[in-house]
Amino acid sequence: MPIPTLANWFARLRSGPSGDRAQLRIGIPRTLAIWSTHQFWLGFFAALGIAPRNLVFSSPTSEAQYHHFGRGRGTVDCCYPVKCMAGHYGELVFGQKRRLDVLFSPMFHSIPSFLDGAVKTSLSCPRVMAAPENIKAGFLKERDVFGERGIRYVSPLLDFGEPALVPGQLHAALAEVIPGLTLAETTRAAAIGWAALQRFDAGLRAESAAVLGACARRDAPCILVLARPYHMDPGIGHEIEGELQAYGYPILWGQYLPIEPALMAWMFGAEMQRGDIASPFDIADVWPSSYSANTNELLWAAKFAARMPWITCVIRLTSYECGMDQPTFSPVQEIVERSGTLFFAFQELDATKAAGSIKIRVETIAHYLEHASGDIIRQKRRLMGAGCPLEDATSQAA
Ligand code: SF4
Repeated sequence: MPIPTLANWFARLRSGPSGDRAQLRIGIPRTLAIWSTHQFWLGFFAALGIAPRNLVFSSPTSEAQYHHFGRGRGTVDCCYPVKCMAGHYGELVFGQKRRLDVLFSPMFHSIPSFLDGAVKTSLSCPRVMAAPENIKAGFLKERDVFGERGIRYVSPLLDFGEPALVPGQLHAALAEVIPGLTLAETTRAAAIGWAALQRFDAGLRAESAAVLGACARRDAPCILVLARPYHMDPGIGHEIEGELQAYGYPILWGQYLPIEPALMAWMFGAEMQRGDIASPFDIADVWPSSYSANTNELLWAAKFAARMPWITCVIRLTSYECGMDQPTFSPVQEIVERSGTLFFAFQELDATKAAGSIKIRVETIAHYLEHASGDIIRQKRRLMGAGCPLEDATSQAA
């Protein structure tokens, strides 16, 4: 059963408010940490009275987008997902039938993580944090393109992983562009945003549990993708997981695995009893320097894959020149392969994205999956023992 990730990822609410704010048009580049926080922004801005039709996300990344809107505005950054932002900014500035009033591009210092409390902290990649400043420069270097077009550029630095700080930071940034905005109202809207984000995440975890449950009950294999959230962008991840899904293998993403207590107890209980780890979400055994939110979650998902019998294959995606991912290559691969699970990496994706070579690799992966999955499931089931809650036919774990 596929997870319907992309079709409704940035879907907006249907109804909308009226009044001055309802006319305000706000553009958000569909890049980097927006891929894991978009539901917050949908809930937050709707609660502030911004009409849903006036909250505009740029299109997914594409060569055409960069060619038409970003060319000549590149700045010095070798990270491919950051470079692509110039096309997104350009589309929001130059590519709208109706002009935007605000280009909103937050700088995420930290982001919330389900591992919070079990890891040291949940910071963003420094390039994610600084990317808006970097890309903005390309639109100011000759003249102020935002000013010329009457667009207010708003880019607050957000401790998004610390919800108590967020309303004040957002209010300070938005009070000048949203008429009459108060801190109390911003606080209420942020609470609505958090609730929307939590609902969305919980829904996807439930979908993942249902996929795994279906696999468990049929002893069928599925594939786990280990990547950064923005690898869901077809222009960044090149839809490799879609190619594999076409062979009939359900796809899970590491960010949205089920974390319900009974399943965690089955997967990690023995290690906790031995004192190897303090909680199911403890990754100190494999990644002591747990400061980066996305990196922490990658390592945790690798541990999950190693213990979950029906995940018979892990696909690792990384982008060109990603310094954050380099140190994780060996640990992630070792964790996965030691369990007997198949592991395939598409590294430096944007240097090697030729469609033909991806297709050949995907065919190879499908071949291995077909021949090895049965043995992998049997071996992992033996190691993990009986009692997996997913095997309960009545289980619809949430
Ligand atoms: S994690 Fe890597 S690919 Fe992503 S923004 Fe940071 S450096 Fe770039």
